[in-house]
Amino acid sequence: MVQIKEGFGRLEHRYLFQEVGRRVAAFHEASPETDIIRMGIGDVTLPVVPPVARAMHEAVDDLAVQERFHGYGPEHGYEWLREAVVRGDYASRGIRVDTDEVFISDGAKSDLGNILDLFSAENIIGIPDPVYPVYVDTNVMDGRRIRYIPCREADAFMGEIPEEGLDVIYLCYPNNPTGAVITRDRLKAWVDYALRHGSLILYDSAYEAFIQDPDIPHSIYEIEGARDCAIEFRSFSKTAGFTGVRCGYTVVPKGIQGRIPGGGQLGLNALWERRQGCKFNGASYISQRGALAVYTPEGQAGIRENILYYLGNAAIIRDALVRAGLHASGGRNAPYVWARTPDGIDDWVFFDLLLHRAGVVVTPGSGFGAEGRACFRLTAFMDRARTVEAMERIEECIHGL
Ligand code: PLP
Repeated sequence: MVQIKEGFGRLEHRYLFQEVGRRVAAFHEASPETDIIRMGIGDVTLPVVPPVARAMHEAVDDLAVQERFHGYGPEHGYEWLREAVVRGDYASRGIRVDTDEVFISDGAKSDLGNILDLFSAENIIGIPDPVYPVYVDTNVMDGRRIRYIPCREADAFMGEIPEEGLDVIYLCYPNNPTGAVITRDRLKAWVDYALRHGSLILYDSAYEAFIQDPDIPHSIYEIEGARDCAIEFRSFSKTAGFTGVRCGYTVVPKGIQGRIPGGGQLGLNALWERRQGCKFNGASYISQRGALAVYTPEGQAGIRENILYYLGNAAIIRDALVRAGLHASGGRNAPYVWARTPDGIDDWVFFDLLLHRAGVVVTPGSGFGAEGRACFRLTAFMDRARTVEAMERIEECIHGL
C-alpha cells in the first residue's frame, strides 16, 4: 500500500467551504422550497468587462488559424503581460518591480500552495488568526510547525508582531476574512521585523484593487526593505472577475535569498523560476490575453465600476448589521464584512440559525481560526437585489431572536 505524507493525516477538519456546502446541501434537500441566498463563498458574480471578453474571443480566433496559433507559452508568462503588470500595478505607483520578477500563473491559490515547495519542513511558519484557510492547510500537508499570530479587533486586525523570529510570515491585506486593511506604519513594522530576524513575508494582496483610502499601501514594496524580504501574490480573480478564467501573478524580487542547509545561499527568484519551469506550463494564452485587456483604459474603467458596485453591496451589508445591533467591521476597502454574532453565540449555531430561519448562508468565523469564534463573514459579491433581500432577512431574523 502506498505511504501517504504524514501531514495529510494531520489535516484537522474538512475544508471550511466543503463543510458549509455539506450543511447547505442537507438543508436544501430537507427544505427544497426555500430560496437560499449564498452570502458565504467569495466568488464574484459580475461578468468580465467587454474589453476582456473581446480579447479572449480574439485569442480563441488566433488559436484557430495557422499563422496566429499559440502552443506552449513561456512558463513564467508572456512578456507582454509581465510588462503590463509592471507598468500598470507598480511603475504607475512609483514602485520598483522588474519584469523578470513577475511570474504569471493560473491564480494566487496555486502559487500560495506551490511556493512552499521551496521551503524546508523545518521552517517555523507564522500564520495570522483568523485567516484564509489555505495557508494553514498547505503547511500542515507539508508537516510544518505553525505559530498563530492573533489578529484582534482592538488592534484593527493588523497582527501582533511576535517576540520570536519566525521563518515565514503570511500577511493578507486587504484581509480575507476580516475586510481589514493595514496601515503603512504597521506594514513597515512587519518589514523591519522580517529584516531583523531574516524572515520571509508572503504578502497576499489578492484584494488590492478594492483599496479606496489613499493612505493605505497597495503593495508591500511601497515599504523600504521589502524587496529583500517579501514575496507578493496577486490575482485577477476578484479584481476583474477571473475566478473561472484563472490568472494571477507572483512577484519574487531578485534580492531575496534563502539559506541552504550546511552552508550557502540561493536566490528565491531563480529557485521559483526553476520550480515553475519544472512543474508548471504557464497560464493559458486565452487567460493572459484577457488579463492584458484589464490594463487598457476601457478595462480599468470597467473593473473600477464593478469594484465600486461590490463596495456598494458591502456598505448595505454593514449598515444592515449595525441596524440589527451587531458589531461589524471591514467592507470599506475590501469585499468582506466581519461581524460578531448576537450575544456572542457560537458561530456554527448562528450559521445554522440563519440558514434555517432566513435561508441565508454566511461563513462561520471559527472556520478561519480560533480568533474567529463567535464571529461570521459576509461577502459583497452577490447581486445588489439579492444582497438587499439577504440583509432584510438577516435583520428580521436577528430582531426575532
Ligand atoms: N488569496 C486570498 C486571500 C483569497 O481570498 C483568495 C480567493 O478567495 C485567493 C488568494 C485565491 O485567488 P485565486 O482565485 O487567484 O486563486
